[in-house]
Amino acid sequence: MKLANYLSGQWTAGSGSGEPLVDPVTGDELARVSSQGAAIGAALDFARSRGGAALRQLSYQQRAELLAKIADVLTANRDDYFRISLLNSGANQADASFDVDGALYTMKYYARIGRALAEGKLVKEGATIPLSKTNVFAAQHFLTPTKGAALFINAFNFPAWGFCEKAAPALLSGVPIVVKPASPTAWLTHKMGEDIVKAGILPEGAMSMLCGSARDLLDHAREGDVVCFTGSADTATRIRSNPNALRRSVRVNIEADSINSAILGPDAAPGSDVFDLLVKEVVREMTLKAGQKCTAIRRVLVPRARLKAAGEAIAARLKGMKVGNPRNAETQVGPVVNKAQQAACFEGLRKLKQECPVVFGGDEQFQPVDADAQKAAFVQPTLLACEDGAGAQFVHDVEVFGPAATLVAYDGAEDLIAIARRGLGSLVASIFSNDAAFIRHVVLGIGDLHGRILVVDSAVGGQHTGHGNVVPSCLHGGPGRAGGGEELAGLRALLLYHRRFVVQGPPSCLADLAGLAADASLLYA
Ligand code: NAP
Repeated sequence: MKLANYLSGQWTAGSGSGEPLVDPVTGDELARVSSQGAAIGAALDFARSRGGAALRQLSYQQRAELLAKIADVLTANRDDYFRISLLNSGANQADASFDVDGALYTMKYYARIGRALAEGKLVKEGATIPLSKTNVFAAQHFLTPTKGAALFINAFNFPAWGFCEKAAPALLSGVPIVVKPASPTAWLTHKMGEDIVKAGILPEGAMSMLCGSARDLLDHAREGDVVCFTGSADTATRIRSNPNALRRSVRVNIEADSINSAILGPDAAPGSDVFDLLVKEVVREMTLKAGQKCTAIRRVLVPRARLKAAGEAIAARLKGMKVGNPRNAETQVGPVVNKAQQAACFEGLRKLKQECPVVFGGDEQFQPVDADAQKAAFVQPTLLACEDGAGAQFVHDVEVFGPAATLVAYDGAEDLIAIARRGLGSLVASIFSNDAAFIRHVVLGIGDLHGRILVVDSAVGGQHTGHGNVVPSCLHGGPGRAGGGEELAGLRALLLYHRRFVVQGPPSCLADLAGLAADASLLYA
């Protein structure tokens, strides 16, 4: 089966033999993708001219209704998405739910909050600004949907959520989307796209899908387009430096990889509730989706005196978890997505082992439950410990995109802050402590290098949303190495797909335009 591309309103298979998608447990081929021969330039023109024009005919509220219909269709086909997640990502129920239910929730969320913008066609920002003494000449800032296309280049680990979290704000803004899923797991995104097309919800050209290599996609980007990339920092650098995108000042939003931290406060003694909450969260982050989350905890920063106790507590939990074929109900940890990712994990772990002893796991020959280790792509959950956070290099730099984390000892708050900052920009850090002064000091010390900080104390207990869980009402993204991009954060996400401009003129003209506009304060509600 070759997954067809949906371009210029037509399903057409790419030429050539294409690239295989495999079952990470059996190694069996499931489908192929190819973008060879795809008329990408024409498809982008079609999206901009047909899809964009049709979407902009609608108000924000009408587009929110489209999102609601999409959410309904996706919900009706949810079982298929779980089946594909199992086959193509080796995802158990919990792993698949994190991606698929996260996607449905995000789509429904934007359908709901998008209605607040009501009948507007553009957004009015701030009050009018007087520019003449007699008030015959004034200014008003507006945000208007861009007339380009939104080009999404997604990562393999969230084929459902990655698609929906980008698609919802772009479509709500009135901008047509061109989706390029990561090849290894393109099947799920493709199936969701197919279901949306079959349901006839969107106007022609509002959604296109390119499976397989991105080829020269970026060479066709134009001034009004927005490129949203999620993936590794290395690919991000290539996207960012595309000469055509640079020359045309194409807006590029990057969500890249990141070395995220969980921090144990000095007050949290072994056996305390806060200590246990950190241990539980670290294990969850290491094992859910086999650690293939951009937000997963990679470094666990603990007071030096707690290094041994934290290592023992995390290792004890990991020991009790069965790793293997997700079709076996006894297993809790699945495979990574394919042999290439397994090899990348092993390579990263070998680097980490050069500077940190292994506390648990780390066996490249380990036997997964109900699977042939030769064919399958499993990585044993692995915990390492670093005594010299200041002197270490790999632990702050190498993202093992699998079930792995490293404990790092710290000596006092300043040392901790310096170590956390060695990640050079992360999506998220979490602090587990009951010490308000410590929390305040750390938040102020690392806030500028993190997109999100999660604080858990005894009062929060188990009611937090999760270190690695991205909720659509809150910002997702991070500075520096994490890519510098910003996504979600409720209706603020629409800013990415709008252009700010100011009109200077007679107040009557400004009032006339303002009559078509929703108020920007709604974006920040
Ligand atoms: P990747 O290898 O960087 O690929 C990401 C996407 O870029 C894929 O669709 C890939 O297509 C495409 N691509 C590769 N080379 C390209 C080029 N020269 N021009 C245009 N597109 C190109 O990343 P991945 O392995 O799929 O994903 C894992 C990484 O993503 C991890 O490092 C993880 O931390 C990061 N991630 C970040 C976030 C976030 O929100 N910050 C979320 C999820 C994942 P092909 O698949 O066809 O090669």
